[in-house]
Amino acid sequence: MNKRLNILFISFFIILSLSYSKELSLKEKAIKIIRNSIVVDTHEDTPTTIYKGVDISVRRDRGNIDFPRLIEGGVNSPVFAVWISNNMDEDNPEVYALKVITKTLKVIKENSKIAEIAYSVDDIRRITQKGKIAITLSFENSSPMHNPEYVDVFYKLGIRMASLTHMSTNYLSDSATDKEKWGGISPMGERIIKRMNELGMIIDVSHLSDKAVEDILRISKAPIIASHSCVRTLAQDVKRNLPDELIKKIAIRGGLIDVNFASFYLDGTMGKKYKEIKEKYKEKIKELERKYPTKGKEYEKAIRTIKNNQKTEYEKVKPDLKIVVKHIKYIRDLVGIEHVGLGTDFEGIGNSSPIGLEDITKIPDLVEEMLKQGFTEEEIKKFLGMNFIRFYKQVEKTRTVKL
Ligand SMILES: [Zn+2]
Repeated sequence: MNKRLNILFISFFIILSLSYSKELSLKEKAIKIIRNSIVVDTHEDTPTTIYKGVDISVRRDRGNIDFPRLIEGGVNSPVFAVWISNNMDEDNPEVYALKVITKTLKVIKENSKIAEIAYSVDDIRRITQKGKIAITLSFENSSPMHNPEYVDVFYKLGIRMASLTHMSTNYLSDSATDKEKWGGISPMGERIIKRMNELGMIIDVSHLSDKAVEDILRISKAPIIASHSCVRTLAQDVKRNLPDELIKKIAIRGGLIDVNFASFYLDGTMGKKYKEIKEKYKEKIKELERKYPTKGKEYEKAIRTIKNNQKTEYEKVKPDLKIVVKHIKYIRDLVGIEHVGLGTDFEGIGNSSPIGLEDITKIPDLVEEMLKQGFTEEEIKKFLGMNFIRFYKQVEKTRTVKL
């Protein structure tokens, strides 16, 4: 080999190894930050998964969360949301809630070597310091809380955060994705909010109409959280995202906006793209049903291929993890890093999260991308958990009643 070529080769390998070590050090740095932090994810739909009978103590290849994957991703302070369907409003939602909570508490107890229920900020600190997962319980839709007395009941059972409704307007509040009935929250919704303040329960406004969020900002003595919401300016068509004005108002009161991982909330064009793909494949399935009226093996085989192709097409139109950083950055630049956090919505958004953020083990990849985009270690620590701890402590301070 001649000398020039030799030098060229050596320089090539030096450049290659330098870029490789830079890559490695960013990932290592991300993992190190996570290992030294309380990492809070304020919305995980795991109780529904547990209620369905899934064993979350073992690693699965489906869904987004289980204990092994929470440990791998370094998320040691998740909020498990007990989701109540709005269709259940007239069908004893409190009975369903009691069943889901009972089962969730049972599973946490059975896994007491790795996880514990957290009833306060002090609990979160104590449990995570032992190297365990501190689980806070919340309600997504408060329809089980018929009046303030029910707030007390569910507080005693461990619920520490709640949103008044979900996709539909209920007797407590208007929803962002349904018709307006109250012009904000209802008189009973107001009583529930006041009782939550008295007990030091966190008020969550994700899914609520803009006017409902305004009402709560006016009524609540404590700061509030949007536990799994994105920025409307970045995804205009999504009504359930927050407009800049509300982000500012929530932040000024010391509140938090925790970014959701659903691609269709992060990217306003996704809803249309998904719908088009869905329609296309609906037609294909109809054709198949005409071809095989009695169904059978051939039909089963063909339907599997169609479903796989549909999944591939969904994957192709999805954004990558940079879009989450875009929303985090937007909130930081608008109101400061102190008011943004993590609210994945995992187990509630199917496989719709961006490419590179398929499950809870990918949190280090998100942090790595934040580092790449210039976020400081201090900013990332705030984002991961310090913000939530500060916020929750402030909510606890509004407590005037001890049960
Ligand atoms: Zn939700």
